[in-house]
Order: sequence, then structure tokens, then C-alpha cells
Amino acid sequence: MIRLTLKPGRDESVRRRHPWLFSGAVAEARGDGSDGVAQVVDAGGETLALGSYSPDSQIVARLWSFGGGPIDSSLFRSRFAQARTLRERLVRPATTGYRLVNSEGDRCPGVLLDRYAGVAVLELTTGGTENWEAMLVEAAQEVFTPDRILVRRSGADRDRGQLPLPPGEGRGEGRDSAELSLVPFSENGLSFFADVIQGQKTGFFLDQRDNRARLRALAADQRVLNLFSYSGAFSVAALAGGAARAVDVDSSERALDLARRQRQANSFAASEVDFVRADVFEDLRRRVEAREEWDIIVCDPPAFAKKRSDVERAARGYKDINRLAMKLVALDGLLLTFSCSGLVDASLFQKIVFSAGLEAGRSFSLIARQGAGEDHPVSLDCPEGEYLKGL
Ligand code: SAH
Repeated sequence: MIRLTLKPGRDESVRRRHPWLFSGAVAEARGDGSDGVAQVVDAGGETLALGSYSPDSQIVARLWSFGGGPIDSSLFRSRFAQARTLRERLVRPATTGYRLVNSEGDRCPGVLLDRYAGVAVLELTTGGTENWEAMLVEAAQEVFTPDRILVRRSGADRDRGQLPLPPGEGRGEGRDSAELSLVPFSENGLSFFADVIQGQKTGFFLDQRDNRARLRALAADQRVLNLFSYSGAFSVAALAGGAARAVDVDSSERALDLARRQRQANSFAASEVDFVRADVFEDLRRRVEAREEWDIIVCDPPAFAKKRSDVERAARGYKDINRLAMKLVALDGLLLTFSCSGLVDASLFQKIVFSAGLEAGRSFSLIARQGAGEDHPVSLDCPEGEYLKGL
């Protein structure tokens, strides 16, 4: 255990149970952090909290316990059991893919656990929680009883301020064939596959479930352009809702391969022209030039802002794609536009989309604000957990 002593006057956020301790608040670190546990004490020596220690991160500790209780297997089991109780109240039988544990939102900072039918994927998103892998796997097995648990570690990358690369693209783990990596599950009665070993996130974007359902309800007879499609799940939802056509655009061939399969698994035709491998910025410019019109455009890019210094550049990126997409929306059409950058908050995102509309010369009205589903709870103590914003 390592003991982190706070600078005088820097204990306020810990006392308010905010789970993130920034390295700038720490006056002195003493002891050995190899077990991943940090003890946080104020300038006078009073113990305030225990958490996971990530020496390479600006967030040097993520706090799990404020009441003095130890961090051990029994804490993991009780936090997981609480998360399970919430899911039991929320999840509907037609959906077998959902988030079981959502980091700070389930008081398990640095731990994500997603279920795809019988397979659970545990993602450890901080260096500190990577140290607790064995105990966390055991607790997850006991509480959630999946057939199989797979572990993905993205902590080291995130600690250095990078978004993790999918394992197949950055590390030597790409040996598994696509087949082994694909796990079937259902979402609102539709069939999907999660690419649990090589895919992005834990293999699927579960956070967009409710927004896919919303699209499905709006899609009858519509022509849908799905930008940054990943595995095309928005398109499958649109086709299930009777869309006339849905086109996926993504730069990743692997993602588009999976998108073809998702359509086939739901008995929709997978015609080659509906899968476009391209950079969305370039693809949109071409479509604008060709004066295309689409009834519904979905725009769900990756997080453009990974650290605070990225925000300005990210804002320009969001504005550019939204401006181009808006030019393509038919009269009476709809744009579903998202940002998953935690650092771009809802009000900034709305301003960006507003100025994109001005520059596009198009007038839009807001009919709904959207976020992640209820299996992605956000702790009131940590509002930063509300990363996904949709308009
Ligand atoms: N909407 C998807 C998730 C999108 S994730 C879903 O609901 O499943 C973001 C996707 O954008 C990834 O698949 C990534 O391959 C793709 N991507 C990132 N930058 C891109 C670019 N410049 N052009 C095209 N695709 C891009």
C-alpha cells in the first residue's frame, strides 16, 4: 500500500467523495504501491479514502472506499452484487448484451464489465485496477456466474492519456481468428455479435442501445446514412424499423466485415454498395459535392478529445463533420449526432452543433437529448462519467 498525503487545503474533493485524485493534490507519496492500493490522508494525517493507485496517470488514485473499509475480495463482491441487483431491475429478456458494471457509476472506478449472453468481458481501464485482476475475476465469476470471462487491459494506455488501441491493431494478440472472437447475443430481439477479443470497447457499443431503438422507431421507409458505423448496429436497427436503405461508412475493414454479418444474421440483404470503407470527412465531402440527400443521418464518431489540450481541435472536428452531414439531410429529415468525449460537455456539444448548422446554412430544431442507457449509471459524485451525448 502506498500512502498519499494531500497538500494542505486540497482535501475538499475527496471529502465530497469525488473518486478521482489528481497527482497535483498530492504532497508526498510514501510506501510501496505494488499491490495497487493507495491510502489517501489529509495534511494532518487523517485517513480519508482508499483507492487504486495508478502512478503513470494524472489521476493518481481512483477512490473506492471512503468509510475506512479495506479494499479486498469482499468489497469487490459486494459492489458487484449491488450492480447486479440494479441490472436485474432494468434488463429485459429480449436483451442479452448489456453492461453489468460501469466504473464510477457502480462505485467500481476503473472496472467495466459487459455481458454478451454467456460471455463476460472485464475491462480494466487503469493501471491500479490491473493489479487486482485475479480478485476481480474471481468476484465477477462468483456474482455474475458467466460461462466464460475474458479480460481486456487498457489501463496502461489510458494512464498515459491515450485511448487504448484495439488489441488486434496494436499488440501481439491478433492471432485469434474472427470466428473465435465473435460472441452472439441479442438486443431488443435483434441478433448481434460482439468482437470481444479484437473489437473496440469490449466488442460492441452497448451504450447506444436506447438510441438504436429510437432510430428503429423513426426509420420506416427512410434512407439512412450511418457515419462511423463500426459494426453497423444502427443500420440493423433502422432496417428492423423498415428503412428503405442503410449505408455504413467506417475506415475499418474489420468493422465493415462485422457489419455485413450483423445484417445477414438478421436476414437483411448485405449488398456491397451499402458498406463504404472511407474516411468520413472525405466521404462526406464527396457526398456534398454530389448533392446527395438522406432522410436520416447518424453521426457517432470516436472520442475526438482524449485530453484537455485536445478540446479545441476536437470541437473543430465535431463542427466539420456536423456541418457536412447537415448539408446532406433532406428537407424534413433527421440528424442523430453524438459525441462520446467526456471532455466535451453537453452544453459545449450543443454550441458546436449549433454553429455547424449556421455554417451549413440549414436550420434545425432539437427534438431530443440522448445519452447512454440505464445500464450505464452515472455517479452523482462523479458527473464526468456522463460521456455520451446525443442530439
Ligand atoms: N456507431 C457505432 C460506434 C462508432 S465507434 C456503434 O453504434 O456501434 C467509432 C467508429 O469510427 C469506429 O468503428 C472507427 O473505426 C471509426 N472511425 C474513426 N475515425 C474514422 C474516420 N476518420 N473515418 C471513418 N471511420 C472512422
